[in-house]
Amino acid sequence: MKILILGVNGFIGHHLTQRILDETDWTVFGMDLSDDRLGKSLQNPRFHFIEGDIAINREWIEYHVKKCDIILPLVAIATPKLYVEDPIAVYNLDFEMNLNVINQCVKYHKRVVFPSTSEVYGACPDPEFKEDESYLVVGPIQKERWIYSCCKQLLDRVIYAYGTRGHLEFTLFRPFNWVGPRLDSLYAAKEGSSRVVTQFIAELLMKRPISLVDGGSQMRCFTYVDDGIAALLRILENRNDACKNQIINIGNPDNECSVRELAFMLKKLFMAHPDHLQDGFYSEIIEVPAQTYYGKGYQDIYTRKPSIEKARILLGWSPVIGLDDSLRMTLYSFLEENGP
Ligand code: UDP
Repeated sequence: MKILILGVNGFIGHHLTQRILDETDWTVFGMDLSDDRLGKSLQNPRFHFIEGDIAINREWIEYHVKKCDIILPLVAIATPKLYVEDPIAVYNLDFEMNLNVINQCVKYHKRVVFPSTSEVYGACPDPEFKEDESYLVVGPIQKERWIYSCCKQLLDRVIYAYGTRGHLEFTLFRPFNWVGPRLDSLYAAKEGSSRVVTQFIAELLMKRPISLVDGGSQMRCFTYVDDGIAALLRILENRNDACKNQIINIGNPDNECSVRELAFMLKKLFMAHPDHLQDGFYSEIIEVPAQTYYGKGYQDIYTRKPSIEKARILLGWSPVIGLDDSLRMTLYSFLEENGP
C-alpha cells in the first residue's frame, strides 16, 4: 500500500510513519514544513519525504493523492492557546486547506483517514462521548476557542456527506489527549502555547510555576501515543472494510485525571528522576484564572471521556498503557532529549 501523510513531521504523523515502516511493507509519502522529528525514518527507502507547505505545494499533493491508496491529511493547528490567539489561521489551515485535500480525494476516489477531534464534542454533558449519539456542544461566537471545534465538525460533516453519497470512502478518528515523546516542541511551551502535558514539563525544566487554569479541576483522559497509533494502524488495515465510513474515538477512558492531579503526578516523577533528584528547587503549582492565562476568548471543557466501544468492536483494539506509565515515558523522553 502507498500512504500519503500530510503533516508527517507532526506528533501523530511522525509516530505513525515510524510504526508503518517498522511493522508493514507499505510505502509512505510525506510532506511537512520540517523534518526534525522524523529521525531514522528519513533513512528508510520506503519513506519519501518532501519539505513543503500544503498551502503552496498543491501540484505535489494532487499528484500524490492520485498515486496513493490512502490519504491522511494531518496538517492542523491543534493547541487551544492558538485557537484564541489566531482563530483565522485556525480556520484557514484546519478548514480551507484541508477541504482542498478532501476535494482531491473525492476527485480521485481515494480513501481518506481524517483526524477529527475529541474537541468536536465540546461541552457535551454525556459521561462518555459516543461517536454516533452524543450531541456536539459549543459556546457563543465571542468565545473564539470553539472555532477549532466548529471547523473540524463542519469538515466531519462534509466528509460524511461525500461518503454517504458514494463519492468518498472515509474513516474519521477522534484522538483524546494523546501524549508521548515529542508531543509539542519545548519552544512552543516556552511561549506558553503548547498542550498541557508539554507545558507542565517545560515549566518543570525551566523552574517556572505550573499554572492550574481555574484551579485545575477539569478532567481529561490521557492516551499514550503507542496505543493510539496501534488503533490507527488497524484503521489503515481496514480488515473486512470494518472502518468504512465510520467515526471512531481513540482514547483511554481508564486514564482519566484532573489537570491538578496531572500537575502533581508530573512534578513527583520529575523530582524522582536521577538528573533532578538534587535540584533542591522545583516549580510551585499555582492557580490562574482562565482569562489571565488564555484571554477572554477562552472557555474550558470540564470533562472529556471517550466511549471506546466502537473501537473495541470494529478494530478489536483497546488501550493497554496506564496513566502513570504514559506520563513517565513522556516526561523521560523530554528529559532525555533536553538533557542536563
Ligand atoms: N491547562 C492548564 N495549565 C496550562 C495549560 C493547560 O491548567 O498551563 C488546562 C487547560 O485549561 C485545559 C487542560 O489543561 O483544561 C488541557 O489543555 P490542553 O491545552 O492540553 O488542551 P485540551 O485538552 O483542552 O484540548
